[in-house]
Amino acid sequence: MDISYIINQLGEERADYYNAVAPPLIQTSNFAFNTVEELRKAVSNEKECSIYTRGNNPITDILSKKIAALEKAEDALIFTSGMAAISTAVLANVKAGQHIICVKNPYSWTYKLLNNLLPKYNIETSMIDGTRIENFEDAIRDNTSLIYLESPTSLFFELQDIAAVAKLAKKNELITIIDNSYAGPLYQAPIEMGIDIVVHTASKYFGGHSDLIAGVLCSSKEITDRIFYDEFMIYGGIISPFNAWLMLRSLRTYPLRMERIVDTTQKVVEYLENHSQIERLIYPYSKSHPQYELAKKQMKNAPGLFSVLLKTKSKDDIDKLCN
Ligand SMILES: *Cc1c(COP(=O)(O)O)cnc(C)c1O
Repeated sequence: MDISYIINQLGEERADYYNAVAPPLIQTSNFAFNTVEELRKAVSNEKECSIYTRGNNPITDILSKKIAALEKAEDALIFTSGMAAISTAVLANVKAGQHIICVKNPYSWTYKLLNNLLPKYNIETSMIDGTRIENFEDAIRDNTSLIYLESPTSLFFELQDIAAVAKLAKKNELITIIDNSYAGPLYQAPIEMGIDIVVHTASKYFGGHSDLIAGVLCSSKEITDRIFYDEFMIYGGIISPFNAWLMLRSLRTYPLRMERIVDTTQKVVEYLENHSQIERLIYPYSKSHPQYELAKKQMKNAPGLFSVLLKTKSKDDIDKLCN
């Protein structure tokens, strides 16, 4: 599907709202029905009908169609934060006594979900070095239910061979989830590589204006239907109509912003890599990255985050630079 069609038109039934180009904010908790019969019909299909905004709202519906199309997924659920999407995705696919495999050094609150919260419910997680496929094979147990990826990982920018992990998981009947926040759908397409569920923060690149917190979950309709009628409605972590409205505004410029971010980052990275005070720079699209070939293979580009190790080990010097 053409990218500008997705961000500017898909899901927008403009004739329903005076042909407004910007969809109206529908700031309502519930929706009225003329007859009991109509209400009954809607309740039997709550995921597709707007009845109550914890389940659905027309503005969120437009947004979920666009996000699903961007991620090349059948369907998407939109959450109040990236962590709401991540917790819901994980909790929907594991039960007491089961085991999770996760890459080491994921996003900090994902780490806390897996290592602080889930052990209370007798769910154990192995945190592995995800740069080698053998480590995933070795970590699989009889009670493993899911593999959680983040490629590249936060801060350390370590990649996983996404297609290889997806294949291994399918063979062992395990669910795969990936946090695709870093590359985003324009630069990495995990569903096409065989991953079951893609989660994202939308507070960063999708939002892009530092004025909203949101998250998304993309998957097959079978999986999103299952999650909708259990964890999604039970935890109640849906995005608010206003934040959904802001995010639709943001998506109009998403590809343009990503192009600019990539351009600028490459210049900054080049400058820093050649700087005398820098020991090492970690960026997946830098030739010095140990997994540069894999990055080229599975990512179309790398946006604005990278890490630098300074030559100095003095905390004061580091503080000075940051200040
Ligand atoms: C920020 C972030 C999250 C969490 O998203 P929130 O919208 O802040 O809840 C998850 N994963 C990654 C990689 C992030 O950078």
